[in-house]
Amino acid sequence: MEVWTHHRWRFPLPPHHRFPIEKYGLLAERLIADGLAVPDELREAPPVEWGELATVHDRGLLSRIREGRLTLREQRGLGLPWSPELVERGRRSVGGTLAAAQGARELGVAMNLGGGTHHAGRAFARGYCLFNDVAVALAALRGDGLAERVLVLDCDVHQGDGTADICAEDPLTFTLSLHGARNYPFTRVPSDLDVDIASGTGDDRYLRALSEALDFALPRSRPDFAFYLAGADPFEGDRLGRLALSKSGLRARDELALDRLIDAGAAVCVVLAGGYAADIGDTVDINAATAAAVAKRVRPA
Ligand SMILES: [Zn+2]
Repeated sequence: MEVWTHHRWRFPLPPHHRFPIEKYGLLAERLIADGLAVPDELREAPPVEWGELATVHDRGLLSRIREGRLTLREQRGLGLPWSPELVERGRRSVGGTLAAAQGARELGVAMNLGGGTHHAGRAFARGYCLFNDVAVALAALRGDGLAERVLVLDCDVHQGDGTADICAEDPLTFTLSLHGARNYPFTRVPSDLDVDIASGTGDDRYLRALSEALDFALPRSRPDFAFYLAGADPFEGDRLGRLALSKSGLRARDELALDRLIDAGAAVCVVLAGGYAADIGDTVDINAATAAAVAKRVRPA
């Protein structure tokens, strides 16, 4: 299947930083090794236009990002050192989600091997998230008449505060976030439905909570389009998450999420979001399993 990637656009990080920059290239290689994509199907994500970012982000924030003028407080909240390379990569991460969203419209489901930067809000960039790719893609699809009623299903272990902030006033977008109750962000922006999951929760209870959340959200949102943030950080071996899902539990989560969204009649754009396993190979395994679940559900063109 065709996927979008921006792994060649790297940016400088201090030694031992927790951002897993290596996972993106490893994941692209893994998709080829697993036969999920041939090299030509790994598409380089184009950088999103600044004007497109301005459809959801505050112009002042965008110029501070563009010109390297983030305040000290903003810089700390972001958690990544500013560089022109960081900005270029951030734009390509959004470009990948835009392209995957258009792909999903044609093929039923498609994936960006990046994106899911859900802590970026209208006027703030934080938690490793420069721009909110999902919100930008959602606005672009709407503008092109390619989506009307949208569900954002956020299964990253951290609450989707930025997406909730941007979509708060949008009656046709339903934001659903399932996350560790005791995980970042500690000051939240409420989603349409927030499901706090207790620390240490394993596969069965998590899957039940996800299924019940969808029982609530799907009839209320009736989505024709969905974004699925398939965060790898609810994994038991994650350094930042506090949940305890196994790899097979996460695979079951992906299958459940994709099947329920597709059965409800939504095209689905899948993005990676976070993943901070002590062994980066575990994060790559989890992301590759998500890609395999997507590949199984792509409609023939
Ligand atoms: Zn996360």
